[in-house]
Amino acid sequence: MLTGKHLIAGQWIGDGPTFTSSPAHGEAHAFQTGTPSQVDAAVEAAEEAFASFGWSSRAVRAQLLRTIADEIDARGDAIIQIGSQETGLPEARLIGERGRTTGQLRLFADHIEQGDYLDQRHDPALPDRAPLPRPDLRMIQRPIGPVAVFGASNFPLAFSVAGGDTAAALAAGCPVVVKGHSAHPGTGELVAQAIDAAIKALQLHPGIFSLVQGGKRDVGTRLVQHPLIRAVGFTGSLKGGRALFDLCAARPDPIPFFGELGSVNPMFLLPAAMAARASEIGAAWAASLAMGAGQFCTNPGIALVLDGPDADRFQSATVEALEQVGGQTMLTDGIADAYRSGISHIADDANVRQLAGTPCSDRTAHPFLYSVSGDAWLANPTLHQEVFGPIGIVVRVRDLTQMMGIAKMIEGQLTCTIHMDEDDNETAAALIPVLERKAGRLLANGFPTGVEVCDSMVHGGPYPASTNFGATSVGTLSIRRFLRPVCYQNIPTNLLPEWG
Ligand code: NAP
Repeated sequence: MLTGKHLIAGQWIGDGPTFTSSPAHGEAHAFQTGTPSQVDAAVEAAEEAFASFGWSSRAVRAQLLRTIADEIDARGDAIIQIGSQETGLPEARLIGERGRTTGQLRLFADHIEQGDYLDQRHDPALPDRAPLPRPDLRMIQRPIGPVAVFGASNFPLAFSVAGGDTAAALAAGCPVVVKGHSAHPGTGELVAQAIDAAIKALQLHPGIFSLVQGGKRDVGTRLVQHPLIRAVGFTGSLKGGRALFDLCAARPDPIPFFGELGSVNPMFLLPAAMAARASEIGAAWAASLAMGAGQFCTNPGIALVLDGPDADRFQSATVEALEQVGGQTMLTDGIADAYRSGISHIADDANVRQLAGTPCSDRTAHPFLYSVSGDAWLANPTLHQEVFGPIGIVVRVRDLTQMMGIAKMIEGQLTCTIHMDEDDNETAAALIPVLERKAGRLLANGFPTGVEVCDSMVHGGPYPASTNFGATSVGTLSIRRFLRPVCYQNIPTNLLPEWG
């Protein structure tokens, strides 16, 4: 049952001004508008909870993660129903995302139980060493303290209230304060109810988790500036992420801001692969581009191909497949406006040719496809930016030297993809050392939409794909973001954190 309230340290708070949700369909609801003083209360409770939660055993935290997953499952249908109403995403897609969210919580529980993520090291004392004795030295990764979390509109479950950032922070032993996303406040509240139920069932400190709904931007700005917040996990746009990242850097005590931002995820289509299967790749690209109205950070928005007849076949197949795709509902009115404005900026360039596209109105998106020469693409930085939605640009390069030149100048990406056959091996061998410096994940002969949650995943990349090139927001390595190494010298073992 929706209350429209904030959850602050185990209390449901709701006596202030409200904002109204804008669901894609179904009934709108009133939600409490967050205030800076509510942020302060949530963060202070989180700091108080850290005294016990930061020293809790891995077994306790694993049990918490599993109980949250169970509580989400118990509310499964209600979460899917409101999630679909608020975001316009089909129920089937949200059922998959719910499974990914609970699977992630359970995976992290298993992972921390094993203990190796702590990277424990021990250099025993050498009292007789000359000329100087060595003290007993132990190193272990420790939780950093209260973490602020901002989810994105396009993953209302897996990158939101109980998404990857929250799961990673709780696994590490860090209390969490979530700033609710105004695009899915009801979904956020039901998931917060699940977390609240889990904390209460296990009789843990209520300050471990709070959800302060948004409605006004000062909730987020106060949260990242609060002196007791020790790190921020953010998934969202480059513009929003950069604004909050700059606030973190401008603090008297700058804190890490783990921002996962946008990306155009270029694909490099090599000549032998194109000669063998240009049409097949084109049709598959169209499916990846249009999936979920293109609202994926891993959407492959740019395809680099050699100019010529294979490029023509590739384009025709892509157009043919995109023409089968009808209009799809976008996540918010703001995202639909930004899509239309991104399209109009591309169309402003006289060197760009529109291959497919139907005018979009309201919250509905139709796919668009453009082609442009390598020279014209290089000359217009607007064409290098992410337009969030089902849009693709075919960049027809003069030769492989120009393709390599573009690989060297592109900004940081979440993913880069090569389509290749055996005869492309030499070109691929030259591209990979360039592309591995640009992206968190390199793919061959596939499409980057669909991010596996596992030990080997890296979902991040150099700026602007993320604000922290050494981190991932997906997979078990994401827990490391909320830990820092501490060395204990000659500290009696009974006073050490859980060891072994
Ligand atoms: P967004 O507009 O940046 O919003 C994300 C969150 O940040 C929201 O809670 C928003 O508050 C808040 N926010 C944004 N600007 C702010 C500011 N100036 N001050 C304070 N708070 C601010 O992003 P979105 O539209 O939800 O998500 C779509 C974007 O996310 C796309 O660009 C997509 O590529 C990217 N994305 C990246 C990943 C990844 O892992 N790299 C995954 C998914 C999506 P409000 O609720 O008030 O708007």
